[in-house]
Amino acid sequence: MIFNVASLLTGHDGAFRQTMIEHGEVFTDRHRFYEVNGPVRLMRTDRTVLVTASLTAIVEDSCSRCLRPAILNIETEFEEEFQPTNRDLVSERPAPVEAEYDPALVVDSRNMLDMTDAVAQSLSVAVPFAPLCKKDCAGLCPVCFVDLNVATCGCDKTPIDPRWQSLAQLGAGTPNPLN
Ligand SMILES: [Zn+2]
Ligand SMILES: [Zn+2]
Repeated sequence: MIFNVASLLTGHDGAFRQTMIEHGEVFTDRHRFYEVNGPVRLMRTDRTVLVTASLTAIVEDSCSRCLRPAILNIETEFEEEFQPTNRDLVSERPAPVEAEYDPALVVDSRNMLDMTDAVAQSLSVAVPFAPLCKKDCAGLCPVCFVDLNVATCGCDKTPIDPRWQSLAQLGAGTPNPLN
């Protein structure tokens, strides 16, 4: 996901290029996203390259109910501005006050724009907080932990946490202070 943007940087404001990411793959500490696909637009602004993309990807995570692998379809709307290292190419206006730029959002000295890390970030934010292997996953039995998608069990699944149960018993034995 690396693009040479030299011609964009030497072009005029608003110049843009339309391209595609196809069968891309990016990683974060937790996830491997594959089949990253979608249209990408690289546009020269007055001092940056604005990248917008509409991306889909596939990622494997764990189902939050049954803990089995869950294959998830991820979608993200990507929009980030990349700061060029070669300021002289965008020197029609005074240089902006030097700021701390996110290193993932910089066009390098060879005018290469690498959106890989930024795409990985954008996709990882789109991973659901509680992924499911399928919409109606039955999950695990809270008593014997059998996978209820593939087996049944005879456990009493009344959701009483034993700690609350003993508290309830204590409560029942406490005399009412109003008596
Ligand atoms: Zn599941
Ligand atoms: Zn059970």
